[in-house]
Amino acid sequence: MNYFYTISRGDQASNDIAKQIQLKLELNNYVLDKDLATNIFVVGGDGTFLDAIHTFVSKLNEVKFIGIHTGTLGFIADCEKDEFDIMLDEFLQNKQRIFNYPLIEAVYEDKTVYAFNEIRIENNVRTLLVDVAINDTYFETFRGSGLCLSTQIGSTAYNRSIGGAVVEHGLNVLQLSEIAGIHHKAYQSLQSSIILKETSVVTFDLNYYEGAILCYDHKHIKLGKVDKLICKNSDKIVKIARFNHYNYLKRLKNLF
Ligand code: NAP
Ligand code: MN
Repeated sequence: MNYFYTISRGDQASNDIAKQIQLKLELNNYVLDKDLATNIFVVGGDGTFLDAIHTFVSKLNEVKFIGIHTGTLGFIADCEKDEFDIMLDEFLQNKQRIFNYPLIEAVYEDKTVYAFNEIRIENNVRTLLVDVAINDTYFETFRGSGLCLSTQIGSTAYNRSIGGAVVEHGLNVLQLSEIAGIHHKAYQSLQSSIILKETSVVTFDLNYYEGAILCYDHKHIKLGKVDKLICKNSDKIVKIARFNHYNYLKRLKNLF
């Protein structure tokens, strides 16, 4: 038996498409079941996709995601709303290609959080003071509003808004970018973004200031007195099914 689940952004248009997907799959002997699902159909924007990934974060080995975007841009999902019927036929004929995207992780105290787009350490109240080490080598002391460690897929999200480079699909590199860094005679950090090998480990040593938060995609937690975070590509892989026409550069061109 084949099991699937649908996640919709919740607006009428997305709900309608999710319902049509359900009806067509059920006609083809697929069963809707959240716990047993191996195919997760995500109907909405990139934000909906992030939600779906975090919902299934403990079962990523067992599931793959199929995205239909109904929003304005839709960077992660490659299927337009008027193409979903063709896409479903291709899905049923097993014509998809699976693309793998590692999640990055941040480990602190006895906890781990995962992110598809990026991990950010931010403080909008007080200036952050962070010692950054890369692969156990001290790199810089950063002062400013925050630091953003982005994945390839996240390079077009927050990373791009703060002047980071867009990274082409297929390069599983990490990118570290500054958020409003302070630079003058006494304080210096790199300023530009740095793109790191996929095996890199980035350690953030924090000074305690009230107000620091750890953001991971659309989620966040208060850092409190956490003084060290270790970040790297995790062994959790997000599998996204893509169909014939996926073209990264065309998708990028659509952004602006
Ligand atoms: P959200 O509304 O879900 O997302 C904010 C915007 O970022 C939306 O337009 C969303 O597209 C787009 N987006 C998300 N992931 C993307 C990707 N990989 N490539 C290109 N665009 C992407 O807001 P949220 O819940 O606060 O945060 C979720 C994500 O949004 C974060 O991971 C962060 O990267 C991004 N974000 C960006 C900024 C910024 O650029 N200043 C600020 C906050 C958050 P859809 O409309 O299709 O959902
Ligand atoms: Mn959104």
